[in-house]
Amino acid sequence: MQLPREVIVGNGVLKRITEVLQRLDLNGPILIVAGMKSCQIAGKQVSDLLQQNGINVDTILVQKVTRQDILMVEENIRRLKSRALIGIGGGTKIDAAKLSASRQKIPFISVPTTLSHDGIASPLASVKGLDKPYSVMAQAPLAIIADTDIIAQAPWRAVISGCGDAIAKFTAVKDWQLAHEEKEEYYGEYAASLALMSAKLVIENAQLIKPGNDKGLRVLLEALISCGVAMSIAGSSRPCSGSEHLFSHALDMFKFPHAMHGEQCGVGSILSAYLHDTKWKRIRDSLKQIGAPTTACELGVKDEDLIEALRIAAKIRPERYTILHKLKLDYKTCEKAARITGVVS
Ligand SMILES: [Zn+2]
Repeated sequence: MQLPREVIVGNGVLKRITEVLQRLDLNGPILIVAGMKSCQIAGKQVSDLLQQNGINVDTILVQKVTRQDILMVEENIRRLKSRALIGIGGGTKIDAAKLSASRQKIPFISVPTTLSHDGIASPLASVKGLDKPYSVMAQAPLAIIADTDIIAQAPWRAVISGCGDAIAKFTAVKDWQLAHEEKEEYYGEYAASLALMSAKLVIENAQLIKPGNDKGLRVLLEALISCGVAMSIAGSSRPCSGSEHLFSHALDMFKFPHAMHGEQCGVGSILSAYLHDTKWKRIRDSLKQIGAPTTACELGVKDEDLIEALRIAAKIRPERYTILHKLKLDYKTCEKAARITGVVS
C-alpha cells in the first residue's frame, strides 16, 4: 500500500514546495512535467522557487498523455538523472508524470491546478493509445501540494466535473458490494467507507460549491484526495470506479470531443443508481444543484448514442462485475432506464 507522506492544501501553499522536497530528502535534480497553461499558472513559479533554493530543476511540456509522451518524459528522467518528478496541471499532465515516474521508479509529487477528477491523488493513470480505455496502476504521489489560489483560476466546469466524479462513488461502491456478494470478490470496508464519505461530503456541501467560494473548493479537494487514498488502500480503482465509469468510457467511443470525465460519470451514476434500485433522485438533484449535466442533451450526446453506450458499457471491462454485468441489459431496457430517470427525453 502506497500513501502520500505529505498533503498540503490551502491558499498560497505552492511556495512550500521546497520545504516539502527538503523534508522528503529530494534535493534534485528534479523534473517538472506540465502543460503550456499549467506551466504559466504554476510551473514557472515552482521552477523559480527550486532554483532560488539551489535545487537543479528542468521543465518538460506535454500536451497529451499518449504512449509517446510517456516515453519522452522517461527519456528525460534518464538523461537528467532526475530524483523526483513534479506533475503540474489537470488530469492529463498529472497522469503523464505519475506513469513515467512509476516506470522509472522515482517518486512523483502531484501539484493539481484543476480538480476535474480523482487522479490528482490516486495511484492510477489513464493513457491514450494503450490497449485499455480505462486507468492502469502506476503509483500514488509521495506528496500532494494543492494551492487553492491556483485551483480557483481554473474554469468552473472542471470543478463541476470533479464533483461528478466524487458523487459517482455512491454507485462505484454499490457495484463493489455486489461483486463481493455475488462473485466473492475482495471487499475492503475501510476503502469503501472512504470513497463513500467523499461522495457524501460533496452532496452534503453542495450549497458551498459555487464560484468564488474557497470552502467549496476545499470540500471537493479533500473529497478527491480521500478517493485517491481509498484506491491506494484497495490496491485498485474498485472503490471509485463501477458501472458509471464503464458508461463514461463507452460514451468516449461515441463522441469526440466528449464531455468531461466527471460530467459523464455523474450521469452514469444516476442510471446506475436506478438500476441498483437505490436513491437515484438524490444523485440527480445534487448534480443539478452543483450545475452538473443530468441529461444526454447537457452532455452534448444524442439520446440513442447514450442508450447504446449504456448497453455496451459492460463489455468494456468484462472482469469488473457491476450491476450492468448482472442485468445484461438490452437496448429497450437501457432506453427505459434512461427515460424514467429523465436522462433522455
Ligand atoms: Zn473517475
